[in-house]
Amino acid sequence: MPQNNWQELEQKLFLKTFNRTPVTLVRGKGVWVWDDEDKQYLDLVGGWAVDNLGHCPPVVVEAIEKQASALIQTSNQFYTIPQIELAQILVQNSCLDRIFYCNSGTEANEGAVKLARRYGNLHLDGAYEIITTHSSFHGRTLAMTAATGQEKFHKPYMPLPQGFINVDFNDIEAIKRATTTQTCGVMLEPIQAEGGVNMPGDGYLKEVESWCHQKGILFILDEIQTGIGRTGTLFAYQQYGVEPDIMALAKGLGSGVPIGAFLAKEHASVFVPGDHGSTFGGNPLVCAAAYATMKYIIDNDIPGKAGQTGKYFMSRLQELKHQFNFITQVRGQGLLIALEFSDEIAKEIAADCLAKGLLVNVVKANALRFIPPLVISEKEIDKAIDILENVLSQQKI
Ligand SMILES: *Cc1c(COP(=O)(O)O)cnc(C)c1O
Repeated sequence: MPQNNWQELEQKLFLKTFNRTPVTLVRGKGVWVWDDEDKQYLDLVGGWAVDNLGHCPPVVVEAIEKQASALIQTSNQFYTIPQIELAQILVQNSCLDRIFYCNSGTEANEGAVKLARRYGNLHLDGAYEIITTHSSFHGRTLAMTAATGQEKFHKPYMPLPQGFINVDFNDIEAIKRATTTQTCGVMLEPIQAEGGVNMPGDGYLKEVESWCHQKGILFILDEIQTGIGRTGTLFAYQQYGVEPDIMALAKGLGSGVPIGAFLAKEHASVFVPGDHGSTFGGNPLVCAAAYATMKYIIDNDIPGKAGQTGKYFMSRLQELKHQFNFITQVRGQGLLIALEFSDEIAKEIAADCLAKGLLVNVVKANALRFIPPLVISEKEIDKAIDILENVLSQQKI
């Protein structure tokens, strides 16, 4: 029996937006978390692809503690050091030249779109439309709801802001057909994450990049989930031979402190003072955490390790696929992986995993997503596979 009634209180006090798993977490370390009754769980959700260095990584905790006692918030009226250090490490390790800080992924995309519209305004005769794809996910503001190519998110909020054209993913011809003199950019996730871990087809991203160059429009990548080592390289674009003109980041960037950012190449960096802003964006506290995160990730080749561990995880999942005929597909890259079933059983499987001490994410009614901390070991993956195998073997299909 729970010692307290947190979950009942939540039901009573909150707007009903989240389908929460019935567990109240109170602490975490590495890939493990504990609930309010001290039950331990192996966490393959990782704060929704945020806790890339695991829970409470010592280097980040230390950076936060140190910065919290020095300076937390000043506003962007002044210069502060952590945001400049973070800018340097991100620019030096990417193909982008300039940065803007905000507080979430949605805001990063929103800013990226504003920058693209500003570009259209200055260089493309006022073009303002952005092409995005079906099954994408770009965030929750009204504009990012319109950018997100999923009908179910649009319906309750009509009318949505104009200027977003949703076309099929992995269909370069659809992008070409949708491009008009009003188009200022194309915005994609390199791998559609929330939409079900949908992989780009061979050459697709390269074709989109070429098309954007040919038309003089901006190629925007939403690397909010795929970035910061998740797919085996620091940014996913590096594996597809492309370079975005604008890139949005958040999730893993700050190890759990709320930070987002978008970066742009010099030619696309068209904002002038007053065009965009943020009160908290880039404050010393979150930037110290993000700088410590980035430095650790780069110095210790965490992306390379995630690539290796991801291969191992996928091979173990393939073994399960051979064992259970209701597993239809294992797909992913690095430690962004989906396991798809022939039936809509993902919710039950997740509940059974929970009971056995394993946290997983239901990405679709028929698919689980695994987005663990990138520091997960092969031994810990074996443990997860044991639990999954046990749970799957009880399924009656
Ligand atoms: C999570 C996510 C977002 C939204 O980020 P928030 O921090 O929740 O606002 C946008 N795009 C992608 C690809 C995401 O995974």
